[in-house]
Amino acid sequence: MAKIGINIATGSLQQNEMIVGIDLGTTNSLVAIIHPDTKQPVVLKEHDGVALVPSVVHFGEQGLVTVGDAARDFLVTEPQHTIFSVKRLMGKSYSDIKEHAGFFSYKVIDDNTDSLVKIQVGSVFYSPVELSSFILKELKSRAEHILKTPVTKAVITVPAYFNDAQRQATRDAGKLAGLDVMRIVNEPTAASLAYGMGLGRDETKTIAVYDLGGGTFDISVLRISNGIFEVLSTNGDTYLGGDDFDREIVRYWTGLAGLNEEELSMHKNLAQEFRLLAETAKVSLSCSDNFTGTVAGETFTLTRSKFENLVEGLVARTIRSCTQALQDAGLSKEDIDEVVMVGGSTRVPLVKEQVSLFFGKKVHDTLNPDEVVALGAAVQADVLAGNNKDVLLLDITPLSLGIETMGGLMDVLIPRNSKVPSKAGRQYTTQKDGQGSMRISVYQGERDLVKDNRKLAEFNLTGIPGMPAGLPKVDVSFLVNADGILTVKAKELRSGVEQSIEVKPQYGLTDDQVEKMLLDSITHAQEDIRVRALVEAQTDAQQILDATALFIGKNESLLTSQEIAETKSCMESLSALLLSGTKDEIQSGIETLNELSRPFAERLMDQAISKAMKGKNIME
Ligand code: AMP
Repeated sequence: MAKIGINIATGSLQQNEMIVGIDLGTTNSLVAIIHPDTKQPVVLKEHDGVALVPSVVHFGEQGLVTVGDAARDFLVTEPQHTIFSVKRLMGKSYSDIKEHAGFFSYKVIDDNTDSLVKIQVGSVFYSPVELSSFILKELKSRAEHILKTPVTKAVITVPAYFNDAQRQATRDAGKLAGLDVMRIVNEPTAASLAYGMGLGRDETKTIAVYDLGGGTFDISVLRISNGIFEVLSTNGDTYLGGDDFDREIVRYWTGLAGLNEEELSMHKNLAQEFRLLAETAKVSLSCSDNFTGTVAGETFTLTRSKFENLVEGLVARTIRSCTQALQDAGLSKEDIDEVVMVGGSTRVPLVKEQVSLFFGKKVHDTLNPDEVVALGAAVQADVLAGNNKDVLLLDITPLSLGIETMGGLMDVLIPRNSKVPSKAGRQYTTQKDGQGSMRISVYQGERDLVKDNRKLAEFNLTGIPGMPAGLPKVDVSFLVNADGILTVKAKELRSGVEQSIEVKPQYGLTDDQVEKMLLDSITHAQEDIRVRALVEAQTDAQQILDATALFIGKNESLLTSQEIAETKSCMESLSALLLSGTKDEIQSGIETLNELSRPFAERLMDQAISKAMKGKNIME
């Protein structure tokens, strides 16, 4: 079982190991590697020179599964058995996608729950993870065929906006396809890497990655500094792309031919013919000024300027997203150092022009925009394989890191999936008067109670000078360096005493263990929230009990004996609740004690004020 490397720079991977880069796309997928001789990234191509594998899965007779071009041919003839755009369903529940349910011509199960969607093909149900794994299996076997060597390790790219569930689903799909997924990389990050951005250690740059594919549009603003890519903002439209350009052309031509949409939808083959010719026209107009073709014996023409006229509104929408992305990142156009073009539709000259005009600079478009993400994934894979030692490796923490606070609660300082290096700090204080030391217990995991997480280290900060509870300020800081080593420091700010410890956070955790810990956190989420609320109520109760006892001890003269008796009995009932009460019972106990003791505190305050005023003249 592979361990998750702690030290990613000197990780457990062997030299020269083949790790492929995979762009698992909505429409097309492809694989790239670093060429062993040229050391340059290249996409893997079959003899016919085709690198793109359509991300389409077809289920035929007797469970025969085909992927790619062969499967795409069934899109029109067997829509219920042919799955496309499965990436749109990754990590999603039906309620997430119901707005777009009409988009899918296959059966997405509406079970009215928030659990992950399933797709029904005949009598069999598939998860998006399984469906993606079919695509990945196909990519793996094609790569093995071309490279003539087993391929077991991969870097897979995902959109920058993918959340944890979607990233985890992608990882799982890889695992199911027999791939060890070494890293999930953001697509815009990969695209920038393909252009060599971010490979210099001291480089600091702000990059806009404009990605217009067949069906989706994304704009991401990234900052690279010292080898770390940070996504500052993302924007886009998950239902806008080159297919919409094709639709505009079809609408224009069918309008000229006097056909309306209803008639067209009745003649599926005719509609398909129009669509295919429209795409051909669009592609050809990227490098010529006129296009002529025929559908059902009729001739149709289109000029570049008419085409631009048809799609300018769609392009303008993408530019509005760019404005929004800049605004969200708190940047202006001038702050963008580089603009990278990704996706087949960025070949449209109008798109290039408008993007370049908007950002006021030349865009990067020398690499094939369909391949650029896979090429970048290969660059990242090469770094992970240990072949590019000059490059600082980027990683994220797989599980949250935190310390134990009162009541055995986990206080997270560095949440899971934080980029490394990463730094976080928080101040704590003592619970008891004169407390001279503080125990710092470091944990890793997603559960609310530390006992359910994994203890990494523990140390005592000693030598805290005697002070009343709550007065010392203990600054606890976590630093995970680029090698994945966590250093925990604790410093009492008033006295300056400090102590630190080094921990290797992921050491010895297998992929399966990490996965189990994450799964547990999901399974126990509800229970954890309940327990956390109870522990918090218990902690609050203990604090008010201690404070009230202290108050009575010091200020007995202020209270009548009846008040003291009442308070004591109220404290006893709260103490009893502490052991066996529910969160609500404890809270109402706290409330009662608070109500009872509030006038005492006011009385003490009045007395202090009147003491302070004695003998002093109030200025007139
Ligand atoms: P992608 O999803 O990145 O593979 O992009 C696919 C989209 O790019 C489809 O809508 C294609 O029609 C479009 N496309 C591919 N080549 C060209 C081209 N030369 N000019 C315009 N659009 C293109």
